[in-house]
Parts: sequence; structure tokens; C-alpha cells
Amino acid sequence: MISVAILPVRLSYAARLVDAGGVIEPETVVTNSNQCAPNGILADLLAGNGRFMAGHPRFGHDVSSPRARTADHRPTALVLGCLDSRVPPEAVFDQDFGTTVVVRTGGHALDTAVVGSVDFAVSVFEVAVVIVLGHQYCGAVASTVAAVQTGDRPGGALGELVALIEPAVHEAAGLDGGRDLADRVIDRHVARTVGSLLEVPAIKARAEAGAVKVVGARYEIDTGQVALL
Ligand SMILES: [Zn+2]
Repeated sequence: MISVAILPVRLSYAARLVDAGGVIEPETVVTNSNQCAPNGILADLLAGNGRFMAGHPRFGHDVSSPRARTADHRPTALVLGCLDSRVPPEAVFDQDFGTTVVVRTGGHALDTAVVGSVDFAVSVFEVAVVIVLGHQYCGAVASTVAAVQTGDRPGGALGELVALIEPAVHEAAGLDGGRDLADRVIDRHVARTVGSLLEVPAIKARAEAGAVKVVGARYEIDTGQVALL
């Protein structure tokens, strides 16, 4: 029996549930290679979101997946998302174990540890895609908008979180609207987060070399759809 752990390091299997009984079988050798172009990885993620929206996910979260048990960790994408329980990235993009590293904070706010984590994924794992995923009805954004409007800002660490999101409130307030302010802030905060990540030297260098694509996206809780911003 060949252990998945000793397969060539840039080769791994996708698996699919083949029946309701949860039997897993290897499907094909696919794209989990860090040598893949960013556009291909991004297309794979969006295709996964399509399966998720259609109610036909390919991947369950089952330890019988080969990737769940491999000793080799070669993810191809990173999602930086909000802690919101309605937006689990692995499900939203219908990704198997081993493909996508995830960092989540309130309103995907960037502190030093988060930036370091993304830097690590880009520099060491050489992920080809980084998605900053904002979402409809973001409570962290709504709370920040309320704090700015009322002047009633929380103290301590929660206040620091609000302060990290607040610049997007001021920027969005000056933008032409049509939509509710909190909704505009969600998109603006995603754009600011993408911009901040692209200022990290290692990420910037790999992005300029075409080795990683850093994109912003928004998840609609109403529909399950992810749209690139
Ligand atoms: Zn949120």
C-alpha cells in the first residue's frame, strides 16, 4: 500500500464522494501544484463556489479524504475572511482538505499576526492565490459604522479592531452611494485590505512576478455567490 504521504511533493489527489454512503475514491491528478498559474487556481476556487451555490459540492469534510491524511502540506490558495459563522471559506469554495489555508478575523482585519500568516503562506507555501473575502451583512463592519456614527467606540482590543476597519468607513462615506453605507464599507474595506497585503515586501515581489494573485471578493449571504471585486 502506497502512503499518500510519500507521493511526489507536488502531486496530490482530488477526491470525490461517489455515493451517499460517503465512499471516497481518487478522481484524478489535479491542480494542487504550486507551479500552477494563479488564474487556474482562481478559476478552480470560483468553480467550487459554483458547485456550492448549486447545492452540489464535490467535497465533504471527511477524514477518509486522501488529502485529509497526507503528511505533506501543499496548499495552493489562501483565503483571508471574516470570522462570521455563515461564511466558512472551505465550504463556500467547495475545497477539499489540503488545498486552501484560511485566516479569519473579525472583518478580516489585519494585525501583525495576520499579516505574518499571509506572508508565510505566500513565501513558504507559495500559494498562487490570496483572496480577501468580505461578505454581506458583516457584523464587524456594521459595528464599526455604528461606532463612528455615534462616537461610542469600545475600548481595549475590541476598540483596536474597530480602529482597523474605521478608515474604510470614512473612505466609503465620501464615495457615491446608492447603497447603504455599511454595504459600501464592506467593499471598500476589502479593497483596503488587498492594498495593505500588496505592500508587504515578499507578497509584493511575488505578485509583481506573477507568482501570486491577490484579489478581493465579496460573498453574498442571500445567494451563496462569491463575486470578485
Ligand atoms: Zn463579517
